[in-house]
Amino acid sequence: MPKRANQSEVILYLYEILKNEGEIKGEINLLRKLKEKGIRITPFRLRKIIYDIPQIEVSVQFSKKWKIIKKKCPVCGSKLFPYKGMTLEGKKRVLGYRCRKCKFDSLRDGKPLIYSFKLMNHDI
Ligand SMILES: [Zn+2]
Repeated sequence: MPKRANQSEVILYLYEILKNEGEIKGEINLLRKLKEKGIRITPFRLRKIIYDIPQIEVSVQFSKKWKIIKKKCPVCGSKLFPYKGMTLEGKKRVLGYRCRKCKFDSLRDGKPLIYSFKLMNHDI
């Protein structure tokens, strides 16, 4: 049974996998690759680690219909910050939420669906 991996192990394997595969589409596929290496990790923890590695580029495709926003970013798990604007009636209200880490924007983006991962500089 795979053991719970520590962060540096996960990072090491992420580099190795992305170097070999180029780009991985779908979080599930990345999780599967890690599992093959004996790394067991939750999707949430994986994302948190990945967003702390500037060399890994994450692209997210969003579904357009999505209104439920929690206090945590659905992509990377960071705190969301509300942004306010004027309504047509001239009242100030919260229009949406933004993540400062991965730039998730609740007005622009829907529910995150498909992730793809690759190294920024593939030929290092
Ligand atoms: Zn985020």
